[in-house]
Amino acid sequence: MVPVIALVGRPNVGKSTLFNRLTKTRNAIVGDIPGLTRDRQYGDAKWQGRDYILIDTGGISGDEEGIDAKMAEQSLLAIEEADIVLFLVDARDGLCPADEHIATHLRKRNKRTLVTVNKVDSLDEHVVTAEFSALGLGDVIGIAASQGRGINRLMEWALTEYEPEPEVAELEFVEGEDLVKVPGPSAKDGIKIAIIGRPNVGKSTLVNRMLGEERVVVFDQPGTTRDSIYIPFERDGEKYTFIDTAGVRRRGRIHEEVEKFSVVKTLQAIKDANVVIFVVDAREGIVDHDLNLLGFALEAGRAIVIAINKWDGMQPSERDYVKVELERRLFFVNFADIHFISALHGTGVGHLYRSVQSAFTSAVTRWPTSRLTQILEDAVREHQPPMVNGRRIKLRYAHLGGANPPLIVIHGNQTESVPKAYLRYLENTYRRVLKLVGTPIRIEFKGGE
Ligand code: GDP
Ligand code: GDP
Repeated sequence: MVPVIALVGRPNVGKSTLFNRLTKTRNAIVGDIPGLTRDRQYGDAKWQGRDYILIDTGGISGDEEGIDAKMAEQSLLAIEEADIVLFLVDARDGLCPADEHIATHLRKRNKRTLVTVNKVDSLDEHVVTAEFSALGLGDVIGIAASQGRGINRLMEWALTEYEPEPEVAELEFVEGEDLVKVPGPSAKDGIKIAIIGRPNVGKSTLVNRMLGEERVVVFDQPGTTRDSIYIPFERDGEKYTFIDTAGVRRRGRIHEEVEKFSVVKTLQAIKDANVVIFVVDAREGIVDHDLNLLGFALEAGRAIVIAINKWDGMQPSERDYVKVELERRLFFVNFADIHFISALHGTGVGHLYRSVQSAFTSAVTRWPTSRLTQILEDAVREHQPPMVNGRRIKLRYAHLGGANPPLIVIHGNQTESVPKAYLRYLENTYRRVLKLVGTPIRIEFKGGE
């Protein structure tokens, strides 16, 4: 599972500034689910080939009196979810009572923690950090989030135990040879499935229903603890593993306390899965949080199957309305299969497996260089790329650089000038010719001049 890093600290120490710098995107997931806190945001981030999830506890507001308690609560929740805690303090304010307050919690939790002194700017780092050593939390580091100073050292400390993923650029590629040594999962590994969606859409019901099918054999994993979140099983000779985000109980086990919905667990499951089954409650339709989660799954490159649940008992007019609405709002994932199901009654559930299979196959097939190059040549013949500075962009050959999602690397000249519309044309062409369903595609250009 990808590590989770939490930024905690009192207001105005620079958490949001650091969050934005590290995630480099405004595409943060805000926990805006009813009953959940609104004061944490989650971002997908990468540092030197290492993936992680970042939690920011910024955005806390309130009167002076209530603020300590509220802040502490937010920090506590974030600390609970995190593997690594970056405890931000302000170099210019020095050590404050509120810092001590948070430090007290951190000492109890015994998490890997780094006191991060922000706004060091041009101050002498050793002088400003010395004061915070008194917190007794171990290492202290100085940064200036708004200037980017000290960020590399910070992340090196935070992610030192985590291995980077192999970068495509590091792969050896010899022109004209079919390269099949492409990173990513393969068909014989089995399919890891994450069932995600808001609370109460029917995730647990669906997991139990899918596991409860006649042809499913659920395996006990030797050596795993009872709260293992991986449920391996086999169906029609195919291997699958559910990554449990909903606190689903294993069959035959007494229903104990169902775990609360957790954004972090959902995001981690998405990152860890090959295929995501995205569950929507037909009666509630798509809300912004759904789009956020789907956006995250797409950015993570996961294959996607959409299940519109609770289809039972809906009036025909309601059904028509839901279908039109879905088509409109889910346009950006129009490559994904949509199923209208009833997890409760089992209607349509068996068909999900077929879509999971085809999405996975699309995501992990190793296409030979000759095939990808042929498709590129045909596409270019049909529609030439535009001229730039009086010279035509040249696209010469293509090869696969990764799987799940398929990464197609295209080599040529002036590739940095390929317009977005042309990129989309190539993407659509590959999708159509290779009959790719249920998976996003990545295209990367190599070779400038
Ligand atoms: P948060 O409430 O902890 O999320 O804090 P913000 O990220 O909103 O930052 C609070 C203020 O500190 C903003 O005005 C930032 O521009 C400023 N700030 C953040 N990082 C730095 C820094 O490294 N140096 C200085 N001088 N100001 C900073
Ligand atoms: P989760 O929080 O997403 O895991 O949702 P649950 O599986 O716990 O389901 C929430 C509620 O919706 C429960 O009362 C289920 O019985 C109900 N539910 C789940 N699937 C269906 C369905 O297909 N139709 C109907 N009518 N109710 C369903």
